[in-house]
Amino acid sequence: MSTELNHEQFMRYSRHLLMDDIGELGQQKLSEARVLIVGLGGLGCPVALYLAAAGVGQLTLCDPDRVELSNLQRQILYRESDCDEYKVVCAERELRALNPHIRVNSYADEISDVLMDGYDIVVDCTDNLAARQLMNARCVADKIGFVSASALGWEGQLIAFDFAAHANLCLNCIVDKDSPEPMQNCSNSGVVGPVLGAMGSLQATTVMRMLLGFFQQHGEMQRYDGKAGRWLALAASARRDCAVCGEVA
Ligand SMILES: [Zn+2]
Repeated sequence: MSTELNHEQFMRYSRHLLMDDIGELGQQKLSEARVLIVGLGGLGCPVALYLAAAGVGQLTLCDPDRVELSNLQRQILYRESDCDEYKVVCAERELRALNPHIRVNSYADEISDVLMDGYDIVVDCTDNLAARQLMNARCVADKIGFVSASALGWEGQLIAFDFAAHANLCLNCIVDKDSPEPMQNCSNSGVVGPVLGAMGSLQATTVMRMLLGFFQQHGEMQRYDGKAGRWLALAASARRDCAVCGEVA
């Protein structure tokens, strides 16, 4: 894809181009980026919308599910008429309509190792610990960025890693891969739609920070309590015996 901005793109991205710390150079970095979004639910929808709108040059979407009526309370890419269609098909259609200058690929599949070739950043928008661990291990091995989030009820959590710059400290240092799937999830315990929107927006912002070179804190963790209206920033630490990134790995 050409990185030269044409007149239409100058207009489209003018609010980025006006900013000294993005500008034309930053916009070109965004247009050259390849980002994989895994999970097109309550988190993946805002992530995909914002990154497509921002002009991230290649977005790949991965989700095996079809749209259901109960998704519409929070999954803002879909309309009632989309029910029973694959989420990635509906999402790709919306993103192309939003921004025809970017490339969008999609897979109506569970995430697997073969689908993770050739990205700069992987964005985890699943609610599945096994998938999250698979992505984490691959991002460590490929030395790329990994931005993971989750939400339940009124609360959300984000954790982000820049494995291009740091080898130690990964998701498995914090949540061991042998730990069981949590008992509670959005399907059995509920979630507030805009809390997912807040976390998804934070994931999209974090992706842009990484692509533009502003991401500093490897292993950055943020928690949001939507009911109390509070954000909390935390720092994680590496485990030397981590089976994924540790010295024994
Ligand atoms: Zn680790």
